[in-house]
Amino acid sequence: MAIEKYIILDRDGVINVDLFDYVTNPIDFKFEQGSLEALKKLTLFGYKIIVATNQACISLGIATKKEIDDVNLHMKQKAKENGAEILHIEVCPHKPEDKCKCRKPETGLLTSAEKLLNINLKGSFFIGDKFSDIQCALAHDCLPVLVKTGYGEITLKNHDVSQAQVFERLSSAANFICQ
Ligand SMILES: [Mg+2]
Ligand SMILES: [Zn+2]
Repeated sequence: MAIEKYIILDRDGVINVDLFDYVTNPIDFKFEQGSLEALKKLTLFGYKIIVATNQACISLGIATKKEIDDVNLHMKQKAKENGAEILHIEVCPHKPEDKCKCRKPETGLLTSAEKLLNINLKGSFFIGDKFSDIQCALAHDCLPVLVKTGYGEITLKNHDVSQAQVFERLSSAANFICQ
C-alpha cells in the first residue's frame, strides 16, 4: 500500500481571508491571494488535504451548523473547480467555555479525522495562523507552519513560534512543501 501524505490546514486566515468575524455565508468567503493555486499544487503533489477549523459561531448561536456546512461545501467546490481536492473538513462547533476536546489547541479534530478515515496524521504538516494551531500541531506531533495572513502577524508578535516554520501565506508555504 502506498504511503499517503496528508496535510492539515486551518481555514480562516489560511485558505480564506479572515474577516475577524465569522464567515457564515458563501458570499463572504474570499480565498486568500494564491490559496486556490496552493491547494491545487498540494493536490498535484500528492497531499491529501484535511481542513480543521474552530467555528464557535455555531455554539454561540451566530450561525447554524447547516450554514457553516454550506460555507465549507462552497470552499470544497471552488477548490475542485480549480483542480484541488479537499479530502475532509473537521469542524469544532464549540465555544471555549464548552471545554470540548476538539476546539484547537485541543487535538480532537485530528483524532476524529484519523478515526473516521483510518489514517495517521502524526508527522504531517499543519498550517495555521493562530498560536492555537501551532499548539495543536505540536501536541499531535505534526509539523507546525505559521502563515502571516489572518492572525499570523499578531501570533508572531505575541507568541514564541520558534518551533514553527513561518511563511508569508499559504502559497509560499505550499511552494516550500512541494519542492
Ligand atoms: Mg485561522
Ligand atoms: Zn469542540
